[in-house]
Amino acid sequence: MKAMILRHTVSLEETDKPLELAEVPTPKAGHGEVLLQVLTCGVCHTELDEIEGRVSPSKWPIILGHEVVGRVAEIGSGVTQYKEGDRLGVGWVHCSSGSVDENLSSQFRATGCDVDGGYAEFMTVREDYAYPVPEIFSNEQAAPLLCAGAIGYRALKLTNLVDGQRLGFTGFGGSAHLVIQLARHMFPNSEFYVFARDDETRAFARHLGAVWAGDTSDRAPAKLHAIIDTTPAWKPVVEAMKNLAPGGRLVINAIRKEDTDKASLQELNYHDDLWMEREVKSVANITHHDIREFLPLAANIPIQPKVETYCFEDANRAIVELKRGQIQGAKVLLIGV
Ligand SMILES: [Zn+2]
Repeated sequence: MKAMILRHTVSLEETDKPLELAEVPTPKAGHGEVLLQVLTCGVCHTELDEIEGRVSPSKWPIILGHEVVGRVAEIGSGVTQYKEGDRLGVGWVHCSSGSVDENLSSQFRATGCDVDGGYAEFMTVREDYAYPVPEIFSNEQAAPLLCAGAIGYRALKLTNLVDGQRLGFTGFGGSAHLVIQLARHMFPNSEFYVFARDDETRAFARHLGAVWAGDTSDRAPAKLHAIIDTTPAWKPVVEAMKNLAPGGRLVINAIRKEDTDKASLQELNYHDDLWMEREVKSVANITHHDIREFLPLAANIPIQPKVETYCFEDANRAIVELKRGQIQGAKVLLIGV
């Protein structure tokens, strides 16, 4: 089968072709697994972290990709939930302990990091870590729901927001544009505020229901009860703390932060920005329970993902454009469609 493989860590400042198109053996479905013919795979910011070494894959070469929509091509022994032809999704959690906090478990194995992922024509997945994709979503729309959407759902739960409270988003890309749609549904009396760097993104945020959208370093017209940060940088964290109400919570939805603007942390003032029981909480990984809960909810709303598609062979271009911040919704590779 064809796959886009990553052979080793590289700097995207030094190459615009981190992945190599290669012919590799097609995997076989083991016990309890299904073989998926990959239809689409979303491009997530975590791929940049893996390529540039902030997150280390545990095998080399590795096939990245953890926002996968595929069709069951073969079922392994012992599989009971699915049959050939079913359309399934796969997310970041490849397998773990199965408990409610399996995202924090030492047994956690990540798709496209500890095992091969979806930048390929085929991949295998355990049936209990594969999810039926609601019919309402096309293959390309469904892909970003598997990570950007589902982990955004987890981040939203971790804000502890109560309906009527004000929620902010700093960064408004692949994840936040889905979460604001979810938040409007879950918190119909709340107001949403967006901090983003460019006019076009701010206009997009207002279009999706933000009552106010400003620059990352602007002050919102009211203090916010919670803010979700989906940026790879530190300055938005500092600026978000300055927009939080007393008792408010900042939820950082990122596996790694890049260190280029780490000096911004010096601007944090304990008395003004942290004191008064303000909190910072990170989001780590995702459980299969989150994804299973989120997909039917997303279909029910229905969330409308904005996607920008690339042909499979253009995966490197998608990655470079994501790195440069050229984001129009979520980027998705068309693989088997
Ligand atoms: Zn992801």
